[in-house]
Amino acid sequence: MKRADPTAGAGATTLELARASYREIALYAPDRAPCAIDLSDNTNLFGIPPAARRELVEVATATVTRYPPLYAQELKRALARYAKVRESEITTGCGSDDVLDSAIRAFAEPGEKIAFPDPTFAMIPIFARMNGLVPVPVPHREDWDIDAEAMLATRARLFYVCSPNNPTATTASREQLERLISQANGVVIIDEAYAEYASDRWIDLAPRHSRLLVVRTLSKAFGLAGLRIGYAAGPETLVSEVEKSRGPYKVNALAERAALAALREDGAWVAQGVATVLENRAKLVTKLKGLGFSPLPSAANFVLFPVVDAARTTKDLRQRGVAVRPFTGLPRINDALRVSIGPWEMMEALLTALKELTR
Ligand code: PMP
Repeated sequence: MKRADPTAGAGATTLELARASYREIALYAPDRAPCAIDLSDNTNLFGIPPAARRELVEVATATVTRYPPLYAQELKRALARYAKVRESEITTGCGSDDVLDSAIRAFAEPGEKIAFPDPTFAMIPIFARMNGLVPVPVPHREDWDIDAEAMLATRARLFYVCSPNNPTATTASREQLERLISQANGVVIIDEAYAEYASDRWIDLAPRHSRLLVVRTLSKAFGLAGLRIGYAAGPETLVSEVEKSRGPYKVNALAERAALAALREDGAWVAQGVATVLENRAKLVTKLKGLGFSPLPSAANFVLFPVVDAARTTKDLRQRGVAVRPFTGLPRINDALRVSIGPWEMMEALLTALKELTR
């Protein structure tokens, strides 16, 4: 079945991606052309956290002539406090993209398999290929939970589960994850990029499991996507392997100062943003249903809803000043649009444009 991901290159199927070496995979290039209202990338649409802004404007210029700390020790301390784990149980990177890439390299050898529910975060098969691994997509269950048994049956060395999942916004149940973690013959990576918008989380439990790594980011609820800060928690034995495979200096000095300020002082700003997203998410889902769409249940700061022709609808919406992310040929869904949840005026603009198109 065709997979509708811009990362896959024109018309590449998951199977084709699984077979291709990274040299044959199209460059990751979703449409990022400027648009009045950009709901295409699941980032935070509420601006920059105030303490992070202050730090960037007033303090950070003093840091640029010297190398940053090798492994972002001070940032690790602040992240450990936030994640409720020990400092030695945290690693960081240049975005969670970098943490995922480093972890994939650390926990499997070239030629081994990485299994993941399909569809999921589009960079996973690409990072797999970049590191010489074989990506093995496994269909979700009918209820959009992950299928732990089918994933285990792949006998993969490494397992990746994104919960809440990009692009479906659905979550993996505790029961299925526990099964996967307890029976996997290798490391399980849970990607919690959107966990602040959901009710369940694994990050604080990760160090108690010998083979679990939970990856997070400051790109979503913390609103710092441009600074590229990701992190992961897990037992020291795993975290130190990721540090080795990631290398030094991955968090730049400016980003580290702003992130520290955000973690120490912008908690209320983050919580307010999350609360508004949850409120607007519920409202948007109701309105979309009113227009005849059937959004999947969302536990993230975006919703996915099937449409007849994703490419066409995306083009029509862009002409009306609203950018969304199209997916074509998704398993069980086929064409769909993914839209970020932001301030209500942005949601209104989307709804108005959709109304015009469905008239
Ligand atoms: N994981 C998931 C599930 C994502 O959706 C994204 C970004 N879209 C990332 C990781 C990467 O985020 P970043 O590199 O900005 O931390």
